Amino acid sequence: MTIAFSPAAQAGFARRLDKLAEVIVRVGLNLARGQEVVLTAPVEAVPLVRRVSEHAYRAGAALVTPLYGDDATTLMRFAHAPDDSFDRATGWLYQGMASAFRGGAARLAIIGEDPALLAGVDPARVARANRARSHAYQPALKLISGFDINWSIAAYATPGWATAVFPDLPEEAAVAKLWEAIFSASRVTGDDPVADWAAHNATIHARRALLNARRFSALHFRGPGTDLVVGLADDHDWGGGSAPARNGIVCNPNIPTEEVFTTPHRARVSGFVSSTKPLSYQGTLVRDIRVRFEEGRIVEAHAATGGDVLARVLETDEGARRLGEVALVPHSSPISASGLLFLNTLFDENAASHIALGQSYSQCIAGGGAMSEAELAARGANKSLIHIDWMIGSGAVDVDGIDAGGTAHPVMRAGEWV
Ligand code: ZN
Ligand code: ZN
Repeated sequence: MTIAFSPAAQAGFARRLDKLAEVIVRVGLNLARGQEVVLTAPVEAVPLVRRVSEHAYRAGAALVTPLYGDDATTLMRFAHAPDDSFDRATGWLYQGMASAFRGGAARLAIIGEDPALLAGVDPARVARANRARSHAYQPALKLISGFDINWSIAAYATPGWATAVFPDLPEEAAVAKLWEAIFSASRVTGDDPVADWAAHNATIHARRALLNARRFSALHFRGPGTDLVVGLADDHDWGGGSAPARNGIVCNPNIPTEEVFTTPHRARVSGFVSSTKPLSYQGTLVRDIRVRFEEGRIVEAHAATGGDVLARVLETDEGARRLGEVALVPHSSPISASGLLFLNTLFDENAASHIALGQSYSQCIAGGGAMSEAELAARGANKSLIHIDWMIGSGAVDVDGIDAGGTAHPVMRAGEWV
């Protein structure tokens, strides 16, 4: 076990944290001179926010604005706020963020929340608070999900998150171990992480190009408890790795990332599928999800634990029962090889092929960034307040691509690229 508190280890930690900040600014955001950055982070992440701010200003940032959140303060709301609090959200703040984005600001989210924070809270209140927040955040989120601006998400190992991932370790050891996992998954352990990311992006782009060249009309997943045909949206485009935002800046929205992904057709998903890893959703672990689709819609859903949470998610809106994303990740991905369940989508979705319920990404439709909602819907894109990824890939799952003539071509065997 590594305990990162000797002076030498401290220096090593500071160097890696600085490398992570450099990768966030130069690779994640690829910040342009004169751009502003709107940054959200847990209060514990101040050391990383400071490293990010220095790299951002050195890269020519006009203004870096950090907005801090605090898990303990969030809990106090659920414990003590009046009931009508849970239908409110900081609309004024989200309007301000949307206006910053329209003015050219980049968006950075540093995540690190305790995944079990809301485990003991009334799920109906959590659902109301989420719905209010989703509505208020919609105008800003549209600029992010529509890829109008360069944006990125990266992680900070907070004590609350680390002890949830490593419940048997003392807090300091858990934090040190989670940092090791974050640094390695985020590819900042080499001498030149920016060059390592360029090579990694090139590998992902090559897979993306291959899939785009094949123009599959559907993917067929087969494995234990899974026989699922995911029809792909008309004019779908595979994404993955770095990509140009509509402001022209090529950024990496997720640090880390291993996936290639595209938009399923809202009405062309059929069969049944079983989750291969637990889904961590608002403090609940939803295990062994099993759902059946008919004409794109989930018509049956079960889970070994957390079934009530899953049912509530599916009730969010009409689009919550349909798919907004399908993604391929090899079973040998470094995050999968770590064997860890991070209890956070940014990491766990990069450990296995996955599908997402809810909102689709317009940039996964060719020319989608410039399309109206009606034009996107006509191609099969889905619309919802939610976007929840869950893992369906493993070393036991095969994937075929179905071409326009109905012929199956092997894409993955036993979880690996063919
Ligand atoms: Zn994904
Ligand atoms: Zn997703």
